[in-house]
Amino acid sequence: MKKERPRHFASDNYAGVCPEAWQVLEEANRDHQPAYGEDPWSVKACDMIREVFETDCEVFFVFNGTSANSLSLAAMCQSYHSILCHDFAHVERDECGAPEFFSNGTKVQLIEGPNGKIHPDAVEAMVRRRTDVHYPKPKVISVTQATEMGTCYTVDELEALGCRAKHLGLTLHMDGARFANAVAQLGVAPKALTWQAGVDILCLGGTKNGSAVGDAVVFFNRRLAHEFDYRCKQAGQLASKMRYLSAPWVGMLQNGVWLKHAAHANAMAALMHELLSPVEGIEILFPRQANSVFVEMPKSLIRYLHDLGWKFYAFIGEKGCRLMCSWDTTPEDVRSFVKDLKEGLQSTSGQS
Ligand SMILES: *Cc1c(COP(=O)(O)O)cnc(C)c1O
Repeated sequence: MKKERPRHFASDNYAGVCPEAWQVLEEANRDHQPAYGEDPWSVKACDMIREVFETDCEVFFVFNGTSANSLSLAAMCQSYHSILCHDFAHVERDECGAPEFFSNGTKVQLIEGPNGKIHPDAVEAMVRRRTDVHYPKPKVISVTQATEMGTCYTVDELEALGCRAKHLGLTLHMDGARFANAVAQLGVAPKALTWQAGVDILCLGGTKNGSAVGDAVVFFNRRLAHEFDYRCKQAGQLASKMRYLSAPWVGMLQNGVWLKHAAHANAMAALMHELLSPVEGIEILFPRQANSVFVEMPKSLIRYLHDLGWKFYAFIGEKGCRLMCSWDTTPEDVRSFVKDLKEGLQSTSGQS
């Protein structure tokens, strides 16, 4: 029989709500408050996001990351434009065509690059490939920070992308489902990774960071926010009891809670990386720079661990596995997993 485990490494959205967000939700759950974002919690959460980014950005709360990405990309494009993103981008692989749908057909064009990142030269090559009217016109670069491969763009890399985007007449979109993990890892001001580097819109993830539900769309380029409220409403993304989407942000952003939880998740992945690196018979796939470790292991070992009740995804080829840590992962979780993995290697040795 499979062992019931309270926590595992499938995804950071398997984790529950952190106590700080939960407490503010409880406070927000009193009395009557105006609907549709006019309540004090939503106003406060927007102000706190402006403080975190040290600029007068426009903020909208939506239910999830797919709508944040697809609606903001739609706001940046006409239907005859194209969005350039990494081959592994969530926008391309995990949103069921929502960016194309909400933009009425804007094409998503894929760029390859090591460690989940796209390079300005690859962007420029894609833009220069065709410039005639028969081909969709590139309009947006979309980057993911931290990336789908658990790496982080440095400030320099983002500035280079932002600079090239400007030069080529493109705008820059950032999928920040794990933005907190990148900030915690890099130890730089949020503004340095966003508007100062040329990011026009950030989709700021709350769910994976420790909230219940709801991501924020942050417009540094306020012009792009024109009529975005209508776009959200039409897509069914205007919450009537908005305070339940916004109040958790107050809990997350006060006293740096969001970065505390992100740094913890990163530290758990660092521990996983440290313990797995010397193990023979498995291979670490990408540099560990956020809250995940990617490991290639024999299929027999993957089966062995799954049979023990450990949950994690194998989606990089046949043997590439993602081990994702969250705000509530404990060092004991990591040690216990590594112990089982080592025993599994012994008992499955010789099998592929
Ligand atoms: C989880 C995730 C999202 C958001 O996904 P939803 O399920 O729509 O909330 C967006 N981008 C990346 C890279 C993600 O990992």
